Amino acid sequence: METVQEKNSYQASSQGYYGTFGGAFIPEMLYPNVEELRENYLQIISAPSFKKEYDDLLKNYVGRPTPLYRANRLSEKYGTNIFLKREDLCHTGAHKVNNTIGQILLAQKLGKKRVVAETGAGQHGVATATVCALMNIECIVYMGELDIERQAPNVARMKMLGAEVRPATCGSRTLKDATNEAMRHWINNPVDTHYIIGSVVGPHPYPDMVARFQSVISEEIKWQLKEQTGKENPDYVIACVGGGSNAAGAFYHYLDDLDTKLVAVEAAGQGISSGHSAATTALGTPGVLHGSRTILMQTEDGQVVEPFSISAGLDYPGIGPQHAYLYESGRGTFLSATDEEAVAAAFELTRMEGIIPALESSHALAVLNKLGATANETVVINLSGRGDKDMATYMKYIN
Ligand SMILES: *Cc1c(COP(=O)(O)O)cnc(C)c1O
Repeated sequence: METVQEKNSYQASSQGYYGTFGGAFIPEMLYPNVEELRENYLQIISAPSFKKEYDDLLKNYVGRPTPLYRANRLSEKYGTNIFLKREDLCHTGAHKVNNTIGQILLAQKLGKKRVVAETGAGQHGVATATVCALMNIECIVYMGELDIERQAPNVARMKMLGAEVRPATCGSRTLKDATNEAMRHWINNPVDTHYIIGSVVGPHPYPDMVARFQSVISEEIKWQLKEQTGKENPDYVIACVGGGSNAAGAFYHYLDDLDTKLVAVEAAGQGISSGHSAATTALGTPGVLHGSRTILMQTEDGQVVEPFSISAGLDYPGIGPQHAYLYESGRGTFLSATDEEAVAAAFELTRMEGIIPALESSHALAVLNKLGATANETVVINLSGRGDKDMATYMKYIN
């Protein structure tokens, strides 16, 4: 098995390796499904007819290109030039739909009749149910029983969109249990079902495939920044990291441009050493999680440690393998923000720019005071989603 990088690049090798991270560590029962995808995905998604359909849906259905907005008041406060990439303005309210649109088209080309997905807070479930409604494909979303209770509005959305929401009743009845159920379903229905993973995690080819679908984010940033400032490379690109898909998309076309610093922000929860955190690179070690070798939070004997974050989208015990490699190689700068810092940053953006960000995205905003960016420098922050879904949490901070 090849573990060395091809060319001098931060992209996946043909076997899905980023340095020593990545690969496909899967049970034998899953091999035919993953192999079918691996053999076909590049050819399908690089076909001109696929690109045309994908681009057309991104433009006319998702609402791309999303704006690159210069946040003037925020720029003045931090003494630098801050631009926000407005993924919050995508249909369904976050970047996740860039990936589900791509994967539903892929599922069609592979002749699949049904889609299965897992969801934690329900954001990926909603993005998946949305594209299944659009394409008239049956949709089954596995969700932990506990999450179904906690995330009623997203459960209602998925049901209204026509998806079947199946409770995962084992274990802690949360995301990892839903993932197991979805995998089991896929193993039992290999011929007619496609599994849509929601981030740059899982066995190869998922991390590379999802990064490619999200790469439209940095493709747009390049020409939009050039149009507004005359230069396509900013000094910093900042994004929050749960599994890492919005960050992977925002970094993609800058990976080999070493004059642009790539800043990934993890959720520190109640503090890195509080025992209630999701700061993977600060707390984790190399190991295998959900089918790939990466960095994850685990005990000495390899049990996954329960993560904690105020934002459901960042409440994940690992990061995608490409991010593990960016961390290890030093190409990426990994910072973290606590729950409290994220909430403060959300209120700051709301009161200064009139934009209510998702709690996840607020983590990326929360490191502005840790960068030391100067008046001549340019900072692009990927605003991964809007805050409507987080209003119940935000309201607790208004008195
Ligand atoms: C799901 C989600 C995230 C975290 O997922 P990534 O794969 O790390 O991008 C971040 N922001 C929003 C708004 C989300 O919905």
